[in-house]
Amino acid sequence: MKNIIFIAPPAAGKGTQSDMLKQEYGYNHISTGDILREAITSGSELGKNVKNIIDNGQLVTDEIMINLIQEKLEDIKGNPFILDGFPRTLNQAIALDKMLRKLKDKDYIAIYLELDESIALQRVLGRLTCKCGKSYNIYDKNLQPNVEGICDYCGEKLEKRKDDNEISFKTRFDTFLTATKPIVDYYKDMDKLHVVNVNQSVSEIFDDISKVID
Ligand code: AMP
Repeated sequence: MKNIIFIAPPAAGKGTQSDMLKQEYGYNHISTGDILREAITSGSELGKNVKNIIDNGQLVTDEIMINLIQEKLEDIKGNPFILDGFPRTLNQAIALDKMLRKLKDKDYIAIYLELDESIALQRVLGRLTCKCGKSYNIYDKNLQPNVEGICDYCGEKLEKRKDDNEISFKTRFDTFLTATKPIVDYYKDMDKLHVVNVNQSVSEIFDDISKVID
């Protein structure tokens, strides 16, 4: 099974798709955004260092992120993985290739989830998340919870991410274009890139991704 690297603008649905791929194929899902948010909630040193950066929609330093991913890749001991949120800069992509050269079963594909800025903004403004990791969207009838404001899976109250506001979104989207988008060409040149249009339903996106994997 090929490892997967997702490259995507904010709210393209990489978390939702990673979750579905994990269920269907048994991947290890490594979400750097989730790891950092958990660090903030737990009040760890890492969490204190990154809180303002994340709330403002900026990027955490390459050094912190590369060390964090190195640890996570060691933890999963060569089992298939999805990287959701890493790499986000060319430096991170190059560092990742260096790390993977030392591992077995290191082959991967990069999947670029393509989405227009205006649709990404609408998705960010409608997104609600749960502590258990599930994500919803009040503007998409297929992604609304059964009971308003409550998670279908664990019954907890849904929350809005602090960085899901118009100002942080603008920073995150601009950062995506300047810092992250160059990675698309990097993987294209290596013949590892697959582009999936995410302006369709969650299950249609999943089908497109499954075709790429199979
Ligand atoms: P996400 O949940 O993927 O949207 O990530 C939320 C936030 O975590 C981002 O806006 C960044 O502030 C930070 N973050 C996550 N992954 C990375 C990364 N690879 N490099 C730098 N910052 C990151």
